[in-house]
Amino acid sequence: MLNSSFASLTTLRVGGTPSQVVACGTADALARTVASLDAADAPLLVVGGGSNLLVADGELDLAAVLVRNGGISLVDASSSRPLLRVGAGTEWDAVVAYAVERGLGGIEALSGIPGSAGATPVQNVGAYGSEIADVLERVRLYNRETGEDEWVPASSLDLAYRYSNLKFTSRAVVLEIELRLERTELSIPLRHLGGERVPLAQARESVLETRRAKGMVLDSEDRDTWSAGSFFTNPVVPTALADEIEAKVGEPGMPRYAAADGMEKLSAAWLIERAGFERGFPGEGAPARLSTKHTLALTNRGAATADDVVALARRVQGGVEKQFGVELRPEPVWVGL
Ligand SMILES: Cc1cc2nc3c(=O)[nH]c(=O)nc-3n(C[C@H](O)[C@H](O)[C@H](O)COP(=O)(O)OP(=O)(O)OC[C@H]3O[C@@H](n4cnc5c(N)ncnc54)[C@H](O)[C@@H]3O)c2cc1C
Repeated sequence: MLNSSFASLTTLRVGGTPSQVVACGTADALARTVASLDAADAPLLVVGGGSNLLVADGELDLAAVLVRNGGISLVDASSSRPLLRVGAGTEWDAVVAYAVERGLGGIEALSGIPGSAGATPVQNVGAYGSEIADVLERVRLYNRETGEDEWVPASSLDLAYRYSNLKFTSRAVVLEIELRLERTELSIPLRHLGGERVPLAQARESVLETRRAKGMVLDSEDRDTWSAGSFFTNPVVPTALADEIEAKVGEPGMPRYAAADGMEKLSAAWLIERAGFERGFPGEGAPARLSTKHTLALTNRGAATADDVVALARRVQGGVEKQFGVELRPEPVWVGL
């Protein structure tokens, strides 16, 4: 058993003490650990890189089960569309680097996303117009309801924008994932380069550089990265409300994109800024602040507690709701709050 606090297990660096911490170095150990805690009715939280978690302060009646099973292998190396099998505990960015080095395309735009490979299906991670759903073939799950250890197709996860049926439900633990990649010299079309395709390694570097400028690559020296990434998802609203907001703000070119059922997706960052919240809000001295590089990231400047982060989140949500009638929903998983 290890001693750790959630502050040391998460990238927001807040959160109290778990009842116990169990690190699982193999898929079988991970399934066994969760099974035995479930059998004892002991509350648990599966933790990968802790980069999408906001955990309460204090002493928590919650075991932290750390996903630490690594390993990357090519299942059918000679194929033009080989399958990459990855242990859930492998660092996600190491998977991207592995693929790019071997001329395997499909995930280069997801460079620099913190956390573990096993968490990528949980919220269908995405960036720059690409998401894990584009390449995810199968997932090996430990099903906590049936006790089964089974490979399931990606189609059974209901993957959607920052969502799967694993998120918020804790119904299953991802033990391994399989990705269908493509032998190629050129990247997928990159949104931040106007849809251009560039050599894979260049694509990776360009994505990393763009992300760094926004504080979206972890760097312990840079407090703007002591965050959970984007703190709110982009809201989907009726067209009439989008029209109303655009008219109210009176700026041409409000970001708005067609979504399902005649709705439209707006930019949470744009709304936050137009509601009067600037980068760095509420300013020097506050323990939790908006990133100085990106209004969508809530950051811990060093001494923040989970309550400080929650209070800031509520202020931003309240401001946007009051100004525009839009409810911003948090992207990270809140635990004990
Ligand atoms: C600086 C920064 C930038 C970010 N940029 C992006 C981005 O561009 N796009 C994006 O989509 N996300 C982004 N994120 C969010 C985060 O990196 C991703 O959601 C990531 O996939 C979380 O992985 P993790 O291993 O850290 O998960 P954790 O934070 O450890 O866990 C998140 C949730 O998944 C569950 N979980 C974790 N592992 C498993 C598993 N093996 N099986 C079942 N459940 C599991 C946890 O219980 C928890 O509910 C960013 C975060 C930060 C800090």
